[in-house]
Amino acid sequence: MRGRSPLVWLSLGLVSVTVSLVLLSNALFHVAPDEAQQMYQYRKALAESLAGQFSRLAQDGNLAAITEAMRVLAERDATIQSVALRQGMREFVAQVGDHRRYWLLPPGDGSTLDQIRVPILKGPDRWGTLELAFRPAVVGGVGGWLRSAWVQFLGALAGLGFVGYWIFMRRTLRQLDPSAVVPQRVRAALDVLTEGIVLIDPSDVIVLANRSFAARVGLDAQSLLGRDLCGLAWIATRHAPLPERFPWTASIADRQIRVSVALGFRASDQTERLLLCNCSPIRDDRGMVRGALASFSDVTELEQANEQLLEALKDLNVSKQDVLRKNEELHWLATRDPLTGCFNRRAFFEQVETLVARSVERRATLGVVMVDIDHFKLFNDRHGHAVGDQVLTAVAKTIQSVLRQEDVLGRYGGEEFCVVLNDVTAALLNEIAERIRRRIENESGASVRSIKGLSVTASLGVTLSLVESAPDIQTLLGEADQALYEAKGSGRNRVCVFRSKDVSSAAA
Ligand code: GH3
Ligand code: MG
Ligand code: MG
Repeated sequence: MRGRSPLVWLSLGLVSVTVSLVLLSNALFHVAPDEAQQMYQYRKALAESLAGQFSRLAQDGNLAAITEAMRVLAERDATIQSVALRQGMREFVAQVGDHRRYWLLPPGDGSTLDQIRVPILKGPDRWGTLELAFRPAVVGGVGGWLRSAWVQFLGALAGLGFVGYWIFMRRTLRQLDPSAVVPQRVRAALDVLTEGIVLIDPSDVIVLANRSFAARVGLDAQSLLGRDLCGLAWIATRHAPLPERFPWTASIADRQIRVSVALGFRASDQTERLLLCNCSPIRDDRGMVRGALASFSDVTELEQANEQLLEALKDLNVSKQDVLRKNEELHWLATRDPLTGCFNRRAFFEQVETLVARSVERRATLGVVMVDIDHFKLFNDRHGHAVGDQVLTAVAKTIQSVLRQEDVLGRYGGEEFCVVLNDVTAALLNEIAERIRRRIENESGASVRSIKGLSVTASLGVTLSLVESAPDIQTLLGEADQALYEAKGSGRNRVCVFRSKDVSSAAA
């Protein structure tokens, strides 16, 4: 299907079927008109009607009137080459045109399409013969065949049929838009991501592509639907040879996820891009693989910058390992809050984006816990800013100790932290939040060595996304904030759970 849209192929297919059916019906029922036969009938009838008139004139010996009538006929009908009236088998008694030249039939009674003869009767006896020579009616060769009404009819049928089918199929395919199975909210959520996201069916056919991917490929998201993801402009580059099997095909085949597979791509502006692809299979309730979700990050500029850096450092005798380590350090510095080591706000939202996409893909829940240190200002005021900083570091460390590897912890505000967790039940989420609260109370203060017996507590707001709808992180953050506000208002050092409009205390 490379190059031409499925719509064109479908329309061509339908036109072929239609033309084949017409040809088949003609073979069976002879519906096409026989032009030669019709022409012959017409010429024969003309000759016979003339013969009727001429026989009377001939009996009266009025040959001049016959010749005049022949001349008028030959003038009006350009297909007539010559007309002659032969008496008995003898010479012509009247003729128009060079009849000797054009009349080709031997003596007898038969006629052909272009040479028509009819007897002239005198009473019951034959008096003579009227002979009409026409120009050849059927032009031979491909030109004549193409000009035949039947072929022109089939040509018009194919042309108009193609346009008709094309319009019809375009409307129909729009109705049957495979991406319609994905709720609008999920699509809208995917469209805001900077990563390219593609959903494919088990035969690698694209059923959804987000805006970012479409822009990268240089097509609109709609026209990507129905295309083979393997058939896009993937190319081998210096950094990424063309894989034997694309990662999404492999993911569907062995049901394993693929991470950071480098792929070369020829962009719409003909530049070579380097994309990192992650993909994982999508299973239905019975565990059957229904397709795959692939995400693409464009790392072309990053790779180019890396190369330039390596080039520049080559002269300084710095090894690639040194550069990679430095890169890692730089990445750490760029994404972390320097005081606590948690993700900074920007990196936190980037990480959360991945968790949102994962929870959409797995139809899993997303939990948010907002943690705010109680009366934090007092630490600063009583013991100085440095102690305040130590409390912040201690609390961050305490929270991290409760979390799993895949949970995301970010420093959300001055003394406020936010945790996002994938795939948790309400009970587990509350338990985690409660454990964080308890550990801060029991451990964080004690770990600030410079001040003995420091009491540190925090208030927590908790919320959980619904399984049946795609999570909206801004809504969840707002809900967690509301629950946190409730925890502060109802005495601090407690966890409050957001329950739609009703926020109630879970622990104290
Ligand atoms: P509440 O229990 O209502 O949360 O009271 P609070 O004092 O914790 O909250 P408030 O928002 O009044 O005070 C937060 C303080 O945190 C104010 C600000 O000076 C301090 N702060 C913010 N960032 C830092 C930081 O990086 N280091 C230190 N030491 N203090 C910070
Ligand atoms: Mg506070
Ligand atoms: Mg605060």
